[in-house]
Amino acid sequence: MTKQNKLAPGRSYLAIPGPSVMPDAVLSAMHRAAPNIYEGELVEMMPALAADLKRVARTDRHVAMYISNGHGAWEAALSNVIASGDRVLVLATGRFGHGWAEMATGLGAEVDILDFGRNAPVDLTQVAERLKADSGHQIKAVMAVHVDTSSSVRNDVPGLRRLLDEAGHPALLMADCIASLGCERFEMDAWGVDVMVTASQKGLMVPPGMAFVFFNDRAEEARARLPRVSRYWDWSPRAHAQEFYQYHGGTAPTHHLYGLRAALDIIHEEGIEQVWQRHETLARAVWAACEAWSAEGSLRFNIEDRALRSHAVTALRLQAPHATELRNWVQGNLGLTLGVGLGMALPGEPAWHGFFRLGHMGHVNGHMIMGLLGGIEAGLSALKIDHGPGALQAAAKVIGGA
Ligand SMILES: *Cc1c(COP(=O)(O)O)cnc(C)c1O
Repeated sequence: MTKQNKLAPGRSYLAIPGPSVMPDAVLSAMHRAAPNIYEGELVEMMPALAADLKRVARTDRHVAMYISNGHGAWEAALSNVIASGDRVLVLATGRFGHGWAEMATGLGAEVDILDFGRNAPVDLTQVAERLKADSGHQIKAVMAVHVDTSSSVRNDVPGLRRLLDEAGHPALLMADCIASLGCERFEMDAWGVDVMVTASQKGLMVPPGMAFVFFNDRAEEARARLPRVSRYWDWSPRAHAQEFYQYHGGTAPTHHLYGLRAALDIIHEEGIEQVWQRHETLARAVWAACEAWSAEGSLRFNIEDRALRSHAVTALRLQAPHATELRNWVQGNLGLTLGVGLGMALPGEPAWHGFFRLGHMGHVNGHMIMGLLGGIEAGLSALKIDHGPGALQAAAKVIGGA
């Protein structure tokens, strides 16, 4: 520790679960003079941009683009389908489910929360019972987070559609894919998702500042039934991207749009199926290392069952204050930044010192993940934090066998 920072110079690596690492091609696409927003290239590229975004979400319906972060997408989506006094059912599996619920409360909705805790997925049986009990169909929307970035659990979104169909319940199915889109398999149309929200800075690899609401015709009908929709969040004009920024919406997010164009090119050149596969393999390498470390000492997965873990983020416990010490060590010594815990402190524990998260979403590859894991191994050893052996060999085996 006396030689702090000695190995930190060089390109830093932000391994937090968003914002994610940005490709150089995205950054260079943004590095340009201000474009004309009324005609020419920027305006002309909008239809293909919208189409290529929809390909990532696997939908042929509609997408509305906003200048906002994910919190804005949360509010945008709700503003188009929920009136004050409407009832919604939120399925919470971590901090972000509760965050979306708070947004609904702020808009005057009656919010029911089914809380599944911080280390388990949505329990479909409980949801089915709740839907059955709502024989008067008071619930207008079921809101679920595909991957909750705080707990790193992945929820069964197609399973929710099945429940709604089995119950003959007309509620809209709304999904938060802010952490998962461009990382995990997501099939908006095939899975029967009515409204999906995402943001630019995670799997889409663009700086924070743009958000997207995808919606289908059922959601559009719900929108049409509302007495009014907040002018800024109204998705109807925004679903016509080419005209929107010219005539209705104010100044376009010019440079973000160029960055997004470059990011979508990268995604579609690799192929979305392969993007999902890469994330799965890299996640398996991370898990293999963490499983080896956890054989001794206090490191534990927040989500025990592999089948329930996200491929974009891994949340881990490490006895306080070791998690904070480890984060500080790898940041100070290696230029590697790990994610903090979000809303995951145990009772009586200071803030988040016993918890950390690894982001492995977006523009990450095999050597980056091996570097991330090697950096953690160095930190655990330097700090003399108890851990099992063989983590890097285990990860290398996954990467090598891919
Ligand atoms: C990051 C994230 C959000 C919040 O997005 P912001 O851009 O920070 O507002 C919401 N939900 C999930 C699942 C996220 O990962």
